[in-house]
Amino acid sequence: MQLYNSLSRTKEEFIPHEAGKVSMYTCGPTVYHFAHIGNLRTYIMEDILDRYLRYSGYEVTRVMNITDVGHLTSDADEGEDKMLKGARREKKTVMEIAKFYTDKFFEDAEALNIRRPEVVEPATSCIDEFIRVIEGLLEKDFAYEAGGNIYFDTSKLKQYYVFNNFEEEDLAVGVRDGVEEDSNKRNKADFVLWFTKSKFDDQELKWNSPWGVGYPGWHIECSCISMKHLGGHLDIHCGGIDNAFPHHTNEIAQSEAYLGHKWCNYWFHVLHLNTNSGKMSKSKGEFLTVSLLKEKGFDPMVYRMFCLQSHYRKSLVFSWENMENMKIAYNKLVAKIATLKKDGDVDTAAFEELRAGFVKALDNDLNTSLAVTAIYDVLKAKTNDATKRALLADFDRVLCLDLLKKADELAEQTQEPAPTADDPFIREIEELIVARKEAKKAKNFAEADRIRNYLLEKGVTLVDTREGTTYKIDK
Ligand code: AMP
Ligand code: ZN
Repeated sequence: MQLYNSLSRTKEEFIPHEAGKVSMYTCGPTVYHFAHIGNLRTYIMEDILDRYLRYSGYEVTRVMNITDVGHLTSDADEGEDKMLKGARREKKTVMEIAKFYTDKFFEDAEALNIRRPEVVEPATSCIDEFIRVIEGLLEKDFAYEAGGNIYFDTSKLKQYYVFNNFEEEDLAVGVRDGVEEDSNKRNKADFVLWFTKSKFDDQELKWNSPWGVGYPGWHIECSCISMKHLGGHLDIHCGGIDNAFPHHTNEIAQSEAYLGHKWCNYWFHVLHLNTNSGKMSKSKGEFLTVSLLKEKGFDPMVYRMFCLQSHYRKSLVFSWENMENMKIAYNKLVAKIATLKKDGDVDTAAFEELRAGFVKALDNDLNTSLAVTAIYDVLKAKTNDATKRALLADFDRVLCLDLLKKADELAEQTQEPAPTADDPFIREIEELIVARKEAKKAKNFAEADRIRNYLLEKGVTLVDTREGTTYKIDK
């Protein structure tokens, strides 16, 4: 499989550290608010990667953190803890909102068929781990104490800026306009591993440490949680593109300084979901959730398909019009699949040939839009329905669009016995259609309308077509 690696900025053949096994780490949500559908785009595309690796025969172990402490409103160690901000907004404790939004995140993930990783670990349950690694970094002289906080010393690294070619001056978040520089830092790019004094005043959650009562920085949690469960060699690290700098850059700095060797081989970054006004973000406060999609009549599967129709390395613009179009496309697919017959034997040769197209698409840096096209190819193919159904089931192990499931539900609904012509109600409708036609011929439109309205009240809608009048009965 070819996978784009943000580290080398090229597509590379994916080769795990240990044959047949993949360790995968995912930056989890900061649980101070609902996940928006932008966050969930990232988790959907990571889910496809996870499922496709399993489909390809790898044994995958996936770990995700839950950020419930230390993520400040600016990724440059500035501002207040996002969790504290959320707790204040809702007049609850930090742990209460962490529990609430963690549960909501997994409800949304489930609605979108996103697999729950094998390990989900909140940052607050790993404080001892963070302290141990920070102690190790201090011992190796990669960290220093200043103003009561512990900082990572980026000047000790051979290379700090790993994901891009930008100049240090452009990237150093500490010197962006409007952001006050932290005078404790020896170098502009240094970052906090453990906060005590400077951000301490109103922090709700704090722990004892060798450097005083305080709380961990955000970056250290991902390094430690990953190393705790997946060891010192990580195959794939995932996240949204905004996490590449400074979060992932700092994760690499501290993990490799601590371990003394290369830590993670492949970095998988998903581009953003944007609206007309730019990146969808929690901090802007205006964002779309899975519940809102449902309220507006969109099955979460329609959003999953919307995400799969574009490549994860391209930003995606959300609009309601696009969603409407996707809903039509999804429903059409379901209706078409509902007409496939279930009996018959699978034609193995045709199965393998059509499956090859699907595999080729995903082997090429997860080309999900071509993988969706492979569904249409199956439906158009000259093979029997049993083979088509078997292929759709096979593809859905990765795409998880529930197409067969929805199609079977639809087929079941339409199999309810239809009322027959000798049903008195049907006879009445048909007689009234004839009477209405006569009335119209005699230009008695008032009578024609009366008949239409009379039937409407009984739940029958007349539909005039070129071939004559038909009707629909509301269930
Ligand atoms: P957060 O809950 O803010 O820590 O973010 C959770 C995940 O969503 C991270 O991997 C972010 O990089 C990602 N993310 C944030 N905003 C967007 C967006 N608009 N589109 C796609 N992914 C996003
Ligand atoms: Zn992370």
